Amino acid sequence: MSGGMDHPLDPPDTPDATASTARPSGSAAAGGVASTASAAAAADAAAARSMRMSFTMHGIGASDGIAIGPAHLVSYATLEVAHYLVPAGELPNERRRFETALASVRDELAQLRGSIPAAAPAEFAAFIDVHQMILADSTLSQGPLDLIDAQQCNAEWALKLQLDLLLDQFDTIDDPYLRERRGDILQVVERVMKVLVGRPGYTPPNIPGSARAILVAHDLSPADMMQFKQLPFAGFLTDLGGSTSHTAIVARSLAIPAIVALHRARTLIRENDMLIIDGTLGVVIVNPDPSVLSEYRLRQEALGIERAKLQRLATRPAATIDGTSIELLGNIEGPDDVAEVRLNGGMGVGLFRTEFLFMNRDELPDEDEQFEAYRAVAQAMDGLPVTIRTLDIGADKTLRGSERASANPALGLRAIRLCLADPPLFHTQLRALLRASAFGTLNILVPMLSTKQELAQTLAAVARARASLVDDGIAFAPSVAIGGMVEIPATAIALDVFLRHLDFLSIGTNDLIQYTLAIDRTDDAVAHLYDPLHPAVLSLIAGVAERARRAGVPVAVCGEMAGDVDLTRLLIGLGLRQLSMHPAFLLEVKQRILKTQLSDISTMARRIVRTRDPDRVRRLVERLNA
Ligand code: PEP
Ligand code: MG
Repeated sequence: MSGGMDHPLDPPDTPDATASTARPSGSAAAGGVASTASAAAAADAAAARSMRMSFTMHGIGASDGIAIGPAHLVSYATLEVAHYLVPAGELPNERRRFETALASVRDELAQLRGSIPAAAPAEFAAFIDVHQMILADSTLSQGPLDLIDAQQCNAEWALKLQLDLLLDQFDTIDDPYLRERRGDILQVVERVMKVLVGRPGYTPPNIPGSARAILVAHDLSPADMMQFKQLPFAGFLTDLGGSTSHTAIVARSLAIPAIVALHRARTLIRENDMLIIDGTLGVVIVNPDPSVLSEYRLRQEALGIERAKLQRLATRPAATIDGTSIELLGNIEGPDDVAEVRLNGGMGVGLFRTEFLFMNRDELPDEDEQFEAYRAVAQAMDGLPVTIRTLDIGADKTLRGSERASANPALGLRAIRLCLADPPLFHTQLRALLRASAFGTLNILVPMLSTKQELAQTLAAVARARASLVDDGIAFAPSVAIGGMVEIPATAIALDVFLRHLDFLSIGTNDLIQYTLAIDRTDDAVAHLYDPLHPAVLSLIAGVAERARRAGVPVAVCGEMAGDVDLTRLLIGLGLRQLSMHPAFLLEVKQRILKTQLSDISTMARRIVRTRDPDRVRRLVERLNA
C-alpha cells in the first residue's frame, strides 16, 4: 500500500505536525497576511526544532538504494520552486525581480485582454478581468515583497508562501462561487512563477551540504528533474507520481534513491529533518533513532560492497548458461549519460530520449546543436549501435512556453503525432540524426506509431530529409535502420504493417501498460493498478516477440520492465534477446542472465503468459526466479 504512514511514534494530525517549517498557518485576513505569515513561519520553525518526531512513510520505490541525509523541501506550488536565503545586500534586487515579473504578467494579461475578438463570449473578457484584479490586489503584489524582506528569501519562495496562505484561507470559505476563485489565484500565481523561474538571471540555489540533502517535493516535472540533474542531491521524495512516470525515470538516471507517491511527505517532513530513504522498499524513516540510523549505515555500506562486486561483471558477455547471448543496452537522456552505459558494460544505446535536449530552454535546439549531441553519442559508443528516438514531447514531457491545452495529454498530440503536425520541427531533427549517422552505427526509433498512415508519413519524412541532405551535398550513412516503438495496444495487435515496413521494433512497456490498462502512469491515485504482470500486458508482449521472431525483425524491450531484474527470466523466456534499460540496472540484469539456463525457463515463461489468474502469475514468476 503506498502513501501510508505508520509508526508507534506517528505524529498526531495537529497543525504543528502537519505544517512545514516555512509554511505559514493561521487564518489572518488578507490585508495582514505578510506579518502574520512570517510570525507563523518562525513559530513553526521553532516548533519543528523542538519536536523532531520519528515516523515512517511508505510510497513507491522509484530508484533503488539507501540514502541518509537532511531533508530539503521544495515548494508545492503549481510550479515547484526552491527555497534559498538571499544575502541582505541582495534583497533590493530580489524585490526588483519580483516586481519585474509582476509587470511582465500585467502586460501579458493586458495583451490577452486586447486580443479578445469582439464576437467572443463576454465571459472571456470577464475571466481576464478577474485575473487582472487578482494580480493587482496587494495580497499578491505587496505580500511577497514583504516576505522577501522578512524571511530574506528568494522571490519564488515568497510567492509560494503567499499562495499557500491564500489557498488555506480559500479552503475555509463556504461560498461555492468564491471557492471557485481558488483556481484563478493558482493560475495567476503560476503565470508570475513562470516568469520568475524562466528569467535568464535565475540560477538554481546553492544549498550548503546539498550533496547529502534529500529533496522533498509535492510533485516534480521531468523538466524539474533535469534541472536537479545539475545539482548534487542524495535522494528524492515526492507525494505524487508513479514508478514509470518520466520524473521517476529521470530520478533513476541520477542513480540516487527515490520514492514517489508518498502523498503527504511534503507536509509532514520538515526542513533539515534527518531522513533515511530505502528506495528498494519505498520506505522513508523520518528522524530515526540512533540505533536505526547505524543499522542503515551498515546496510548502505553492504550495498556499496555488493555494487563493487557487480562491477567485475562489466566486461563479461551477457549469455545464459546454455550459451544464448542477450544484448544489454542503455537508456539515456543526453550525451553525458553515455559514460555510465560504458562503465556498466552496455553493448550500445537502446533508447536515447531526445526530448530532454528540448526541455528547460526558451529556444529549441537547431539542426547543428542536435547534430552535435547525436554525433557525440554515436562517437562515444565507438561503433556500437546507438538507437535514437525522435522527439517524444507531450503528456508529462512539455516544452517551455508551449504547453498545449489538452484534457488528456497522454492521449493527445504527443510524440510522432506532434512531429507529423509540425513538419519543420521533424525535418530538422531527421536531418540532424541522418548527419550524425556518418559517425557511428545509428538507428532511428519512432515513438507512438499506431496507424499505417502515420508510418507512411514518417517514412516519407525520412526520405525527404535524406533527399535534402543529398541536395546539400552532406554525408550520411546509407543504411540507417528505421524502427518503431510498440507502445499502443493497437500497434501490438495490428503488428503486420509495422513488421513489413520497419527494420526493427522496440517495446515501450511503460506506455504499453498505461494504454492497455487505462492507467495514467503519472497518477499516484491509480499507481497500485499499474501492473506489468497483468495477463493482457504479458500476452501483448509475448505476441509481439513471437510475431517479430517469425518475421525476422529484431525486437527489443526498452521500457522499465527491461531493467527489472525480477522480470529478466520471463522476458528472455518469451524470446526477447535485446533489453534496453537505465545503465544502473545493466549489471544486475546481466548477473541474472549469467545464472539462467534458458532451456529450464522457456516452458514456464509460456505457461505464465497463458495463465489468467494474476495471483498465480505472480507465484509462477517467483518460481521462475527461484
Ligand atoms: C515506454 O513507453 O516504455 C518508453 C520507453 O518510452 P517513454 O518511457 O519515454 O514514454
Ligand atoms: Mg513511451
